[in-house]
Amino acid sequence: MTAPSWVDPVDVHAVAEGAEALFGKVFGGQADGVWAAPGRVNLIGEHVDYAGGLVLPFALPYVTTVAVRARRDGRLHCASTHTGEPWQGDLSEVAPGHRIGWAAYVAGVVWALRYSGALSAETGFDVAVHSCVPVGSGLSSSAALECAVALAVADLLGLPTDANGRSALITACVRAENEIAGAATGGMDQTVAMLAHPGHALLLDCRSKATRFVPIDFESANGRLIVIDTNAPHRLVDGQYGNRRAALEKACAELGVNTLRDIDDEDSALRTLTSPESVKRARHVLSEISRVREVVELLERGRIADIGSLLTSSHLSLRDDYEVSSVELDSAVDAALEAGAWGARMTGGGFGGSALALVPVDRVEDVVDNILRCAARASLPTPQFLSAEPSHPAHRV
Ligand code: ADP
Ligand code: MG
Repeated sequence: MTAPSWVDPVDVHAVAEGAEALFGKVFGGQADGVWAAPGRVNLIGEHVDYAGGLVLPFALPYVTTVAVRARRDGRLHCASTHTGEPWQGDLSEVAPGHRIGWAAYVAGVVWALRYSGALSAETGFDVAVHSCVPVGSGLSSSAALECAVALAVADLLGLPTDANGRSALITACVRAENEIAGAATGGMDQTVAMLAHPGHALLLDCRSKATRFVPIDFESANGRLIVIDTNAPHRLVDGQYGNRRAALEKACAELGVNTLRDIDDEDSALRTLTSPESVKRARHVLSEISRVREVVELLERGRIADIGSLLTSSHLSLRDDYEVSSVELDSAVDAALEAGAWGARMTGGGFGGSALALVPVDRVEDVVDNILRCAARASLPTPQFLSAEPSHPAHRV
């Protein structure tokens, strides 16, 4: 049995040093400052954001840092330790439809803030990125990068960074990801990266945009939440997401509502739908929104272990009704449950990426071993593990 591969959270100052070192190497001299923003995991509420539902993410203790220096020539120069390809260009040339690779997540934020009138045409930046958030694992390294850049720009230009200021920055980050990076995102990731509170998950109502903090203290329940990055191969799944959204839109049209969130009587709604596909997709969304409500209620009463069965029901619903799981995710979830987890589910968009398991502390080793053993037996990629403690939002280091 190989030793479990844990990705240990790196102290934010150590990550910041990595960004500063890259900055010195690529740009020379010193940055004006370093900013950090976290990756996130969604505890429950999957594939309901675009249905106006409820989601419950929290910030992970894994951050992306950016060392940034302002320029006065309207140019953006950026480099990352994650990629060998630095990017530089004139900010006036950044626009929807111009594909610029990873730099879109940096340039897009500056573009969006410029577009909103917050930046002058002469403003530019040198940006060096260093991160300990796994990239492309469904833990939102993209939002971590955007939010670190947005906060840096705001601080350097004296834009407000209180709750209202941050909400404008979230909007800029979402525009960056949708319009410049060309990735569909609803805003959950950016919202939690900007507004998270340690020791709490963030209940986000995707219809009203209202937020509320929900306390989570895994330790008090002798529990631990572990994130399992399956390391599954990247799959082309664009058509799949579009197809799920289309099924929900069709269901809404048939039911005469804007979003499934607006349904009062779930049973009667499901009986009204005519295609078996619409019934399955809608049943996932409606049942998932109810599960989020139940989880919030249990967490507010300190009943941590009891949310386990709801996490597992969420997985079964995503697997069987929404059909977005994968062999790697199912293997991790089944193995975690078999070894004594209170509950487990895939998290994020699915088809690969990460799962999570809520585990009694004395079973963590067994759960990790069993997940590794089951992956090896099925010739799946070796997963890696992260610990998930609700952590800090974007901040200046
Ligand atoms: P996730 O957000 O789940 O990690 P995405 O596909 O949404 O996955 O975003 C990953 C992309 O974001 C990467 O392919 C890269 O373009 C960009 N990115 C994220 N973190 C970094 C980083 N530290 N350095 C450079 N690019 C990054
Ligand atoms: Mg992302």
